[in-house]
Amino acid sequence: MKLNCLFSKEQISRRVKELARQITRDYSNSNELFILCVLNGSIFFAADLLRELKIPCMLNCIKAKSYEGSDPAESVNISYGSDINVEGKDVLIVEDIVDTGITLKALMDLYQTHNPRSVKVCAFLDKKSRRRSDVEVDYAGFEIGDQFVVGYGMDYNGKYRELPYIGYIYSE
Ligand code: 5GP
Repeated sequence: MKLNCLFSKEQISRRVKELARQITRDYSNSNELFILCVLNGSIFFAADLLRELKIPCMLNCIKAKSYEGSDPAESVNISYGSDINVEGKDVLIVEDIVDTGITLKALMDLYQTHNPRSVKVCAFLDKKSRRRSDVEVDYAGFEIGDQFVVGYGMDYNGKYRELPYIGYIYSE
């Protein structure tokens, strides 16, 4: 298996800053943004994004698992140890990548039942063409095609998360 670079460290950094500027503008009237970082894949993206936001935030993490290797699983396993009390709050779900949208739909459904003021989604990568669920990404870093990517927090069987760039796997 080989890796090709899809987005360099510099491209990622530029795009994160642009997204942060947009989110800061959109939430300038919000008292506090409840950020929900979806572990494990979003950890680097959320850390970079939050440090660029110029608005008050609360960081919360949730674990969602829906993939085995490079194959989507049929069900989403959500485990949360942190605060689920989002009543009256602005919630921003931060995802590494939205593919079928099944994980995101499960998270939206979970948080919508707790009467938030608003729920929006920021995903670094959006595989729009593979959507199987009725969900919208409000802030997307890049739209990509049907390819399996790794790096910048994203893994293949636990490997490659530490790469500072985003690459796609191919076999020769
Ligand atoms: P979905 O439920 O939208 O199909 O999948 C969402 C989750 O699957 C993502 O948060 C991510 O963990 C994983 N995923 C989807 N596509 C990819 C990919 O191309 N590479 C990696 N490493 N994970 C992916």
